[in-house]
Amino acid sequence: MSHPEVFETVAGVQARLDAVRATGASVGFVPTMGYLHEGHASLIDAAVAADDLTVVSIFVNPLQFAPDEDLTEYPRDFEADLACCGEHGADLVFHPSVSEVYPEGAGEPVVVGAVGGPLEGASRPSHFAGVATVVSRLFRIIGCCRAYLGEKDFQQMAVVRRMAADLGLPVEVVGCPIVREADGLALSSRNVYLEPGERRQAPVLHRALLAGAEALATGVVDPGVVVAVMEAVLNEAPDLVLDYAAVVDPDTFVVPEGIAGGTRIRLLVAGRLGHTRLIDNVGATAP
Ligand code: AMP
Repeated sequence: MSHPEVFETVAGVQARLDAVRATGASVGFVPTMGYLHEGHASLIDAAVAADDLTVVSIFVNPLQFAPDEDLTEYPRDFEADLACCGEHGADLVFHPSVSEVYPEGAGEPVVVGAVGGPLEGASRPSHFAGVATVVSRLFRIIGCCRAYLGEKDFQQMAVVRRMAADLGLPVEVVGCPIVREADGLALSSRNVYLEPGERRQAPVLHRALLAGAEALATGVVDPGVVVAVMEAVLNEAPDLVLDYAAVVDPDTFVVPEGIAGGTRIRLLVAGRLGHTRLIDNVGATAP
């Protein structure tokens, strides 16, 4: 197990990264809000495998929480996070304060394009602007790198990719597959909030996605029918308050009129179990 170097200041991490890049080394970057689990660890593994130096940022970004969301209760455990980074071979951990990331306050949020409009964008109106703003700042701080993001937050990944391209940032966004529990529940820092009864119902999201993908595989071409199949499964969980079940084009997030053979689509679901909001998604290609 290695011991990552910890930086709390922008100047400190930048000086270190400038020196590293001057040797021709490539930088892999894993932005996180901490409370790391095997999903985050898979991103670190991907960076360590492909890049010469891996930086993990741990920063709970106040901007992406609405006033009624869980900013103050968001789980934190820096020592455990550091151990996880070390076990997976990360070289640097960037752990800034809020004032280090936003020295003059938050300023104007980054404008999010059309991919951030529906689904999560509709349910959490200021969320993607907050994400795009902090990630743009982190990308500017870290500089030229490959950034490893999880498909768990599939729409967020599309928003970040678009933002990096629009702002001309020298960052290649690499999408990494979702890591799940044995029963299909996607790992999430927020899963610790689930009461035992809620935890038992939580795999219904993944089951619904698999049922939707199966309908597609057996020739259903109407997105509305695929959504209905997913909703029927989601309704099996008595305590789930469904937010959305959707079928979209994975690049534009537009709902296709019909699903032609060979078309790639993304199936996405979101809902609340008690106080915990869960999201999940899978990709599929029409036969
Ligand atoms: P967060 O700390 O929740 O902001 O997540 C940081 C990064 O980890 C994001 O790119 C997430 O998409 C990714 N991530 C979170 N959970 C998972 C998971 N279960 N599998 C893969 N990546 C994940």
